[in-house]
Amino acid sequence: MLGLLLLVGAVAAVAADVPAPSAAPPPPAESEPAAALPDLESPAPAGMVSSLIVTQLGECPIIISAPHGGTAKIPGVSLRKGVGLEKGPAGFFTGRDGGTEELAQEIATEIAAKTGKKPYLVVARFARTYTDANRPPEIAYEDPDAKPVYDEYHALLTQYCRDVKKKFGRGLLIDVHGQGQSAETIYRGTNNGNSVKLLRERFGEAAHTGDKSMFGLLAANGCTVYPTQPGVKEKEGLSGGYITKHYGSSGGFGIDSMQFEFGMKYRAEAARKDTAKKVTAAVAAFSDLYLTDKN
Ligand SMILES: [Zn+2]
Repeated sequence: MLGLLLLVGAVAAVAADVPAPSAAPPPPAESEPAAALPDLESPAPAGMVSSLIVTQLGECPIIISAPHGGTAKIPGVSLRKGVGLEKGPAGFFTGRDGGTEELAQEIATEIAAKTGKKPYLVVARFARTYTDANRPPEIAYEDPDAKPVYDEYHALLTQYCRDVKKKFGRGLLIDVHGQGQSAETIYRGTNNGNSVKLLRERFGEAAHTGDKSMFGLLAANGCTVYPTQPGVKEKEGLSGGYITKHYGSSGGFGIDSMQFEFGMKYRAEAARKDTAKKVTAAVAAFSDLYLTDKN
């Protein structure tokens, strides 16, 4: 059976993509115990997939990625120091998006249960303190021994994006993150529409910002989202990182991409199941509207 999903360990959900303005820096992830490695199966080429990435071959045009929730050490790799790098949301930041490793897998499980089709899944178990999969390679790692793990994460996303395009003609990559700015909010990140260019061209702006957009559908399912109004810019620093830009329809893969930046209310352990159900309801409705051929 492909894609054995395991939920690993309870998580002290503390970190976020960008630190809250007055917050102290998050504790280093290496102080947390590494969870036991699950026995994974993978559709990727033999020898490519390490136990540091949870992966699943999908059956529908949805790809779920979560690069920042991991806690596992990469054996033999030294911690990143960020010397000479710009700090912040697009630069060097090693805080963990607590709970997103588990939330991404919960969402994948719920989508499969509700629709009968498994989404594609690429989830980092490795900590961001060793390599950051949501950065371009030149600033993503320092120790060359971290490169194979970074490369593997992107080889999987690349393979899955191509697979989705080939099999379904269109698709959506959802990059799951956590932010510390508003616990109650899920922020949309599409580089202000650039990473969903194809969606907008096919179905108009209402598919991006209206009641029947992904975030409109999340709101209809009880989530607080931002932005809510057409024409309002996405929150700076949360508007879509390297993965969203690289794999979205501003790039060359021919599918769309969105970053979901979850507040703590949605990714805390007690809330994750409910969050996964709400996200799945929105994803299923979105898929029916925009990813399914009606004729
Ligand atoms: Zn993140």
